[in-house]
Amino acid sequence: MSKRDYYEILGVDRNASDGDIKKAYRKLAMKYHPDRNKGDDEAARKFKEAAEAYDVLRDPQKRERYDRFGHSGINGGSGFGGAGDFENVNFEDIFSRFSDIFGGDIFGGDPFGGSARGRSRRKRSTGKPGSDMKLSVSLTLEEIAIGTEKTLKVKKFVKCGECSGSGAATESDFQTCGTCNGMGEVRQVSRTMFGQFVNVQACPECQGEGRIIKNKCNVCRGEGRVKGEEKVKLNVPSGVSNGNYITLRGKGNTGIRGGNPGDLIVLIEEEEHEEFERDDHDIYYDLMLSVPEAVLGTEKEVPTLKGKAKIKIEGGIQPGKLLRMKGRGIQGLHNSGTGDQYIRVGVYIPKELTREERRHVEALRDGEHFDVENAKNREKGFFSKIKDIFA
Ligand SMILES: [Zn+2]
Ligand SMILES: [Zn+2]
Repeated sequence: MSKRDYYEILGVDRNASDGDIKKAYRKLAMKYHPDRNKGDDEAARKFKEAAEAYDVLRDPQKRERYDRFGHSGINGGSGFGGAGDFENVNFEDIFSRFSDIFGGDIFGGDPFGGSARGRSRRKRSTGKPGSDMKLSVSLTLEEIAIGTEKTLKVKKFVKCGECSGSGAATESDFQTCGTCNGMGEVRQVSRTMFGQFVNVQACPECQGEGRIIKNKCNVCRGEGRVKGEEKVKLNVPSGVSNGNYITLRGKGNTGIRGGNPGDLIVLIEEEEHEEFERDDHDIYYDLMLSVPEAVLGTEKEVPTLKGKAKIKIEGGIQPGKLLRMKGRGIQGLHNSGTGDQYIRVGVYIPKELTREERRHVEALRDGEHFDVENAKNREKGFFSKIKDIFA
């Protein structure tokens, strides 16, 4: 049986860079990984073949020998399954070589969480973990501006008080699982011409718990948890916005028979405000003035996120002008600075007039200071829109 060319196995050319080789191997390894191809001998063969090719090509010295002498440069001319490096290599050994190529991120943390290696490395908890929960909390802009603390009433699985979460009527109602002798897992070892395969699975008898209950708690029927409600404190920092979420570790559903609890994921919803519009850390408020107020100036009370505030409006203010109240906006997340409150000035023009009012306005029409062209020439900064009133 002749051996396939290593470059051909990985699908790269002979000048391929280390990066290309790594990438090609990674793709094949994921495709033919035994966890994804259970019971498929052909996939297992390809998986090992790729591992062998990669093992040689990633090593500059081995790669050079292979380039010069072919397979015989590597393992003394033996064919596949001969006296080469891979003769006695089993799957667990191949897995151990993986960690340097797969970071921790591909399969979410533990690269081989489902494999024999991954499982044996992880600490086994007594029961099954509880699921994560999601809920949303709606906040006002006032709460968001400075941060707040909320108490959430969460309906979820809580520990059974009757059995303290064990699921058994009494502590003596447990017995060690006979199928796995309390190990919680069963191993199957098979030898093939490609080496030794070790398959470790959770014990089907006890579902990996290592013990079984003879006499179940009659409140939770052996689950160790019951439906209930828990009050959970939520600290919301200032400056959060719609769609942000806060994860409370271990505040989700209680696990089965002492299993780790899930997380509680709290989604932030921002309530629409009656008077303010939000733009990141800034807020906007529309203030409508009467014509005389805009002309003569006035003092006004305006709402802010921290209560009412008085502001002074100078005579001659233009509609559309933005007034800034410095530092009256939202305190940013993680001390990223505080925004401002802006006041958009509008002027109300009446549509109906009494005879008396009309006379006054007509008298103004011809007044020197009511002529727009005159005003443009006279006033500098006529078009400037932003004025800081909290300097
Ligand atoms: Zn068992
Ligand atoms: Zn119980």
